[in-house]
Amino acid sequence: MGTPEAELVRAVLILALGAPMGSFAALLADRLPRGRPVALTRSCCDSCQTPLRWFELIPILSWLALRGRCRSCAAPIPARLWQAELAGLALAGLALWSGLGLWGAALFWCLLALILSDLRFYRLPDLLTGSLFALACAAAFWPEGPGGPTDPARVLQALAGGAVGAGMFWALARAYRLWRGHDGMGAGDIRLMAGLGAMIVPLAGWQGLALVTLIAGLSGLALGLMRALRRGRNLRRRVRLPFGACLGNAAIFVAAGAALGLI
Ligand SMILES: [Zn+2]
Repeated sequence: MGTPEAELVRAVLILALGAPMGSFAALLADRLPRGRPVALTRSCCDSCQTPLRWFELIPILSWLALRGRCRSCAAPIPARLWQAELAGLALAGLALWSGLGLWGAALFWCLLALILSDLRFYRLPDLLTGSLFALACAAAFWPEGPGGPTDPARVLQALAGGAVGAGMFWALARAYRLWRGHDGMGAGDIRLMAGLGAMIVPLAGWQGLALVTLIAGLSGLALGLMRALRRGRNLRRRVRLPFGACLGNAAIFVAAGAALGLI
C-alpha cells in the first residue's frame, strides 16, 4: 500500500492492462491447445491471412470501428475476440474492487486463458496450468508485489493447497477409472487443481478450496444436464464437459468473494 496517488496510478495501470490481457488470453487459448507458436508471429486475419496493422490490434475499439469485419476481405472477426477483451477488462475491475490488486488480476487473466481453452478445445495447456501455479506461489511469497516484504508461511499454505488439490483430483480420477474402466478426468484437470489449490488456500483457506470444487461440481452438473436435454441424449451416455472452465469460474468467484469478506 502506498500514497493515494500511487494507488490511483496502480489502479489505472491494472484497468489499462485489462483488455489487452484479455486479448492475449484469447491468443494463448487459440494457439497453445493446437501447438501453434505464440511468440514471434504477427496476428493476421483467419480468413485471408492479411497481417493486422497496429490500429487493428487495439482491443474492443478496433472491433467496433471495423464493425466486426476484416478490413481486407470483410470476413467476420470472431465475436469471441472482443468477448475475451471485455472479460479481461471485467476481471481487472473485479480484482481492483475486491482489493486483490495486480496479483489477483494476473491470476484471473491466467484463469481466463485456461477457461477459453477448455471451452473451445477441452484442453488445459501445461504452460497455462504451470503459470497459474507459479503465479499463485509468487503471489503468496510477495503479498505486496516482488521486492516487497516476503511471507514464507503463506508459501507453505500455497504448496500444501496445491498438493492437496492435485492429490484429491488424482485420487478421484483413479477411483473413477477403477469404477467405470475409462478416464473421466484429464491430467489437465489435476494440474489445474495444483494451481487452484495454491491460489485459493492462502486467500480463502481450506473451506475456500472445498467451496471451489463444490461450485464447479454443481455448475458442471447443471451444464451437463442442459447439454443432455438440448441434444435429447440419455443422461447415462457420456457428455463431454469443460470441467476445467467450471473450476476456473468457481475459483474467480471464491477468490473475489473471500477478499470482499462475503465467504
Ligand atoms: Zn481477412
